[in-house]
Amino acid sequence: MKDVRVRFAPSPTGYLHVGGLRTALYNYLFAKHFGGKMILRIEDTDQSRFVEGAVDNLINSLRWAGIEFDESPEVGGKFGPYVQSERFELYRKHAQILLDKGHAYYAFDTPEELLAMRTQKPGAVVAPKYDRLVMKNQYTLGAIETKRLMDMKAPYVIRLRIPPDAEITFTDIIRGDITVLGWDVDDQILLKSDGYPTYHLANVVDDHFMEISHIIRGEEWLPSTPKHAFLYDAFGWERPEFAHLPLLLNTSKQKLSKRQGDVAVEDFRAKGYFRSAFVNFIALLGFNPTGDREIYTIEELIEYFDLSKVNKSGAVFDLTKLEWMNTQYIKIVPTSELVELARPALESAGFGGFDDEYVGRVINLVKERIHFMNELPDFVPYMFGDIKEFEIEYIKKRWEENSKEIALDLIEIYKKDDVFNHDSLYGAAKAYAEEKGIKLGPITHPLRIMTTGKSVGAGAFETMEVLGKETCIQRMEKFIELWDSGTFI
Ligand code: GLU
Repeated sequence: MKDVRVRFAPSPTGYLHVGGLRTALYNYLFAKHFGGKMILRIEDTDQSRFVEGAVDNLINSLRWAGIEFDESPEVGGKFGPYVQSERFELYRKHAQILLDKGHAYYAFDTPEELLAMRTQKPGAVVAPKYDRLVMKNQYTLGAIETKRLMDMKAPYVIRLRIPPDAEITFTDIIRGDITVLGWDVDDQILLKSDGYPTYHLANVVDDHFMEISHIIRGEEWLPSTPKHAFLYDAFGWERPEFAHLPLLLNTSKQKLSKRQGDVAVEDFRAKGYFRSAFVNFIALLGFNPTGDREIYTIEELIEYFDLSKVNKSGAVFDLTKLEWMNTQYIKIVPTSELVELARPALESAGFGGFDDEYVGRVINLVKERIHFMNELPDFVPYMFGDIKEFEIEYIKKRWEENSKEIALDLIEIYKKDDVFNHDSLYGAAKAYAEEKGIKLGPITHPLRIMTTGKSVGAGAFETMEVLGKETCIQRMEKFIELWDSGTFI
């Protein structure tokens, strides 16, 4: 196989779509699998869609997902990705080459004329295609009239001339051979009347000069591929290989669209998904390396990646699965990373002053019970400050007649406990229960209530261990005071 060089070629629309991330990721896995190169090219030929900051935003989201690019050419005085708006001359030159070779032509139709042509006739199934033999172009106008219009600077476009009897066949690695007849392909505009290239021209010229070996992109570009294949042939260039990735669908099997909720990678990041879980989930949208499991490291994904095993049918973007995957990662992600993820939420809750070691212990206490690290301050506020709220209904139910007596005894017992870890706390509670001939429940419920104010949480003894002796004793004594003063009645 020739040297692998792939590219991710987004239009800077303002954010990275999850489908875009899937495309970038598959390119990345493919390049890494073969020790090839991956480049980033910003396709900004449609200047009317310019969005301030869109490129930085894209790069940040890609970087967050762990995708880095191989080339950083100097563009407009700074180093960054390839940018098409810096390369317009190259595209114009190549439109001219096609004109000279007879593969392209000038057309002078006005927007109104084009609209009239495209307006569907009643009963027509598809919009009519541009008919070179009747519209206003160099073939119907003749050389003299064409020159006259050019001289008087009449607006024009340059169109690709696709003969109706052309038979365009290309191979898609995922879908096999595809043949399209010239009849069914529009004479694509290559250069617009403002002199800017269309996506098709710029894309093919760039892929050629950037020596792209494989084009891996979403299925929505499949209808463009016959035009591109034709362009490579018209220039006399070797075609790259093509692979079109399956559409992303929502759980109702419709195309995933912005209206149906979050599709921006940055939103998932902000929600607190783990990078590794999110990337793992995205990687499985259309491909499963072994088919027998769901959790893969990036190294495994690179090792197993095989374009020919990518599915043809649409891949369902299932948020429930993403959430499940996230919880799987909570179990395996190192505590230090969890602490880092919890930090912003802790800061904004006013709990920024705790050291990593303590935050890590709290996380380990509750990580199987939360979905996102940013839930931490709300889930266990009592681990970071005084109890602000008691679950009164629960207390009424669980604080029994003998609870106070038990609590007072345990305060005395625990005051003498200098180890104050789960085992010592549990051991003492068990011994006490045996001595009094009671079950452990009437002991653990009051303990949880007194030290956390809540009905749910991690195990009472584990929680107490992390809270520490001083805090626990203080809270227990305070609770008794509150109880006596009738706060919970
Ligand atoms: N600029 C196109 C996009 O926004 C690139 C399509 C392709 O990869 O050729 O997705």
